Amino acid sequence: MIEIEGITKRYDATTVVDDVSMVIEPRTVCVIVGTSGSGKTTLLRMINRLVEPTAGVIKLDGNDNRSLPGYELRRSIGYAIQGHGLFPHRTVAQNIATVPVLLGWDKDRIKSRVEELMTLYQLDPEAYGPRYPHELSGGQQQRVGVARALAAEPNVLLMDEPFGALDPIIRTKAQEDLLAIQKRFGTTIILVTHDMEEAVHMGDKIAVMDSGKLVQYAKPEEILARPASAFVETLVGASEKPFRLLSLGRVRDAVEKGTAEGEAI
Ligand code: ADP
Repeated sequence: MIEIEGITKRYDATTVVDDVSMVIEPRTVCVIVGTSGSGKTTLLRMINRLVEPTAGVIKLDGNDNRSLPGYELRRSIGYAIQGHGLFPHRTVAQNIATVPVLLGWDKDRIKSRVEELMTLYQLDPEAYGPRYPHELSGGQQQRVGVARALAAEPNVLLMDEPFGALDPIIRTKAQEDLLAIQKRFGTTIILVTHDMEEAVHMGDKIAVMDSGKLVQYAKPEEILARPASAFVETLVGASEKPFRLLSLGRVRDAVEKGTAEGEAI
């Protein structure tokens, strides 16, 4: 469980995250959504302490994240960012192995984990392992970025606009793959996006940020049915396909509850 308690971040006189409190349940997907500059990335990066808060506490399974050593945070929290953030001069296999190498895993364990993840992500280890990131397509690079973030079997995965650069078809596939992996490993995912459709599709809960403030934190169906403010309504309304949003929300709900509607899908 991740407990964010009264978290604030200020740069000089500017407050970019303003007294945010929320609880993220284990093995769920929480999507942080909002317009550009609303503080989403800053909030995400305070969870794994890439950014230090000005005030407030973040607890991971009851422990203040400041009390955890850096290696423990790297092991338990994976981080995948927009544009994939791959090391250009390392091969695909070396990129995926980054955190296990830092943690001192033995060679055989690293090799088998890299092969397992590459296979999971439909990248033939022999063919793609020795390649460099620039020799892959955008979709393949994105998969390597997520595989790298998952390498040390983190309990928590932080993702910052991971699908931003993908075309719509590959994007949908990448979202589905991620949800499948999340279910399989029971990973807690916190995903940042500016795209409400993605938020509704992916999120068990959605956190809407506006100018550093958390303005609504609820299930997708609740946000669509009862937006807490004009801003949230605009965000929902600005989506290209509000009706599809609604139906996606219902489908997801039905599948999870195992209702007749879900079984029929
Ligand atoms: P989002 O992810 O929602 O686009 P960010 O968290 O990246 O928003 O940024 C929120 C605000 O904080 C922006 O106005 C940004 O310019 C500012 N900001 C982010 N990082 C820094 C920094 N290191 N120094 C000063 N201002 C920053």
